[in-house]
Amino acid sequence: LTPRLQGFTSTIFAEMSQLAFDTDSINLGQGFPDTDGPDLVKDAAIEAIRDGVNQYSPGPGHPDLRAAIAEHQQRFYGIELDAQTQTLVTVGATEGISASMLALLEPGDEVVVLEPYYDSYAATISMAGGVRRPVTLRAPDFTLPREEYAAAITDRTRMLLLNTPHNPTGAVLSGDDLRFIADLAVRHDLLVVSDEVYEHMSFDGLAHIPIASLPGMAERTVTISSGGKTFGFTGWKIGWVTGTPELVGAVRAAKQFLTYVGGAPFQPAIAAGLRMPADYFSGLAASMQSKRDRLREGLAAAGFEVFDSKGTYFISVDARSVGYDDGIELCRDLPGRCGVVAIPMSVFYDDQQAGRPLVRFAFCKRDDVLDEAAERLQRLR
Ligand code: PMP
Ligand code: GLN
Repeated sequence: LTPRLQGFTSTIFAEMSQLAFDTDSINLGQGFPDTDGPDLVKDAAIEAIRDGVNQYSPGPGHPDLRAAIAEHQQRFYGIELDAQTQTLVTVGATEGISASMLALLEPGDEVVVLEPYYDSYAATISMAGGVRRPVTLRAPDFTLPREEYAAAITDRTRMLLLNTPHNPTGAVLSGDDLRFIADLAVRHDLLVVSDEVYEHMSFDGLAHIPIASLPGMAERTVTISSGGKTFGFTGWKIGWVTGTPELVGAVRAAKQFLTYVGGAPFQPAIAAGLRMPADYFSGLAASMQSKRDRLREGLAAAGFEVFDSKGTYFISVDARSVGYDDGIELCRDLPGRCGVVAIPMSVFYDDQQAGRPLVRFAFCKRDDVLDEAAERLQRLR
């Protein structure tokens, strides 16, 4: 194994899902819904298979999906895109991330990244020969430490890698934070890669603001999203990248040699999803918000200090509140003690002290599953 991949031999999500399977535990680790997404989208995929959409799609993606992505960005955010040159379909957001790193980083380039960071960021920055410069979001509120963020930029910085709503903390960057970051990007002439896979899951009336919609940002931002989260079909692995023709063209150059293309019949189906009426999208956020509240109550009743989650599938706790200094130890014990699996957040931090006590739970599950998990977690008392 090359040095670039040392330390990345196994992802925590695969490990913890295997643990849930082996111990027959409730899996509140890996973030995926335990119910299917809308029938309309499912039926569209079945129809596409029956209609013969079963060979390679065009390299940059199925034209109908690319048109629907452009329509979606215009409908929700007022962002105008030419579907032909400014959209690219990828194999999940994951491939959008790896292709962006491979296309846009030179060895030695620095990437400022919010930590805790989604695990593929560290791995793919390293695969591209880049260097990550983490800026730590700290409990209890995980807000952007602006001074530290500005200070992380050096003359080697090439890219700011963002994620809002933020996995694993559930933080949502405010308009002011985004303007602060945009100003730095313009002043230092940096690229921004913005992972917005949870764009339709911000809570309590908070709006999702794509940084590409701010002045001066369209020309320097690669925006990444995915049908996995918005439509609850994480196993379909349909994601996309939008930006200027130059940036999307660069990402496409890398992407074509990673997978060439992804699953053809899923693409028109996700297109149909993206065109669903507004109440589907608001309903998704409302449903996830009520699941957040449900799990938050269950975790609090089990004795946890629970941190606020403003978006995503996730909520986090402090393991010290139930007698563990280290979230890894709690997560190791949880299947045996309670029959529940969660994710220790220290694996997403370089700053081990900040991450050590934190544990992430996923609430994108059926209400009865969340209730059963809450009941089992009472055994911690
Ligand atoms: N980015 C973030 C922040 C995620 O949480 C996830 C996945 N769960 C992804 C990217 C990957 O998305 P996909 O499954 O579409 O590859
Ligand atoms: N994004 C999901 C999570 O954070 C899992 C994705 C994966 O397994 N790579 O749990």
